[in-house]
Amino acid sequence: MTDAAALPGQPRGGVLSGRATARAVNVLAPNPSAMTLDGTNTWIVSEPDSDLAVVVDPGPLDDGHLRAVIGAAERAGKRVALTLLTHGHPDHAEGAARFAELTRTPVRALDPALRIGDEGLGAGDVITTGGIEMRVVPTPGHTADSLCFHLPSDQAVLTGDTVLGRGTTVVAHPDGRLGDYLDSLRRLRSLTVDDGVRFVLPGHGPVLEDAQGAVEFYLAHRANRLAQVETAVENGHRGASEVVAAVYADVDRSLWPAAELSVRAQLEYLREHGLI
Ligand SMILES: [Zn+2]
Repeated sequence: MTDAAALPGQPRGGVLSGRATARAVNVLAPNPSAMTLDGTNTWIVSEPDSDLAVVVDPGPLDDGHLRAVIGAAERAGKRVALTLLTHGHPDHAEGAARFAELTRTPVRALDPALRIGDEGLGAGDVITTGGIEMRVVPTPGHTADSLCFHLPSDQAVLTGDTVLGRGTTVVAHPDGRLGDYLDSLRRLRSLTVDDGVRFVLPGHGPVLEDAQGAVEFYLAHRANRLAQVETAVENGHRGASEVVAAVYADVDRSLWPAAELSVRAQLEYLREHGLI
């Protein structure tokens, strides 16, 4: 879920669909829109020599897409053994229950309401299905339940909607909170600086090959927007919709409802920090 299309100076992405790294393949869901970019990326993650695969974000409830994911795994000689969710937004999670039925596999997510089976998902968990190593990184901010998955062997991180392949993400107020989001971006930056992560495998848009650049761009963009919102308030724009019109004048109007959520999150952040 994006609140701005590609921005000047933003690092450009590469692979959109198909194999991205040695262990990760994207099956693009047929749900493109202004807010979902090219559609939802459904990731199949597997050790090259294993016959078991983990699927991240089955995507919308679209039987054709869900069967295409299973087919892509089968063509690679793999059986889906586990489904993970980066967060509960319907474009990522709506198809999860049906996918679990088709594959007879559990679904793990931070939000207990989205789980199928006994196991949850959260900070410190490591997914080891079929010998893979995928570390769960809590990244609240886009939503309260957002998670990223660090794939150290591929120097990659699956980011859901926390970092997108193009444009910027919505801080979906009131569930999403800006202070949490900035902390999460800093956590991702430390993965790129301290843990060698180079590739962003996002929930929408192309793969990014400069993970650190992408995260730095997001942090700078958020700081810019925050300063713009502060200025707009100082100039007498009070309501969130007025602030959107002032600050998001450069963004397509179809994204203004999403931008308004981000603005509400920014106004809350500025109030909490005594800045307005
Ligand atoms: Zn989302």
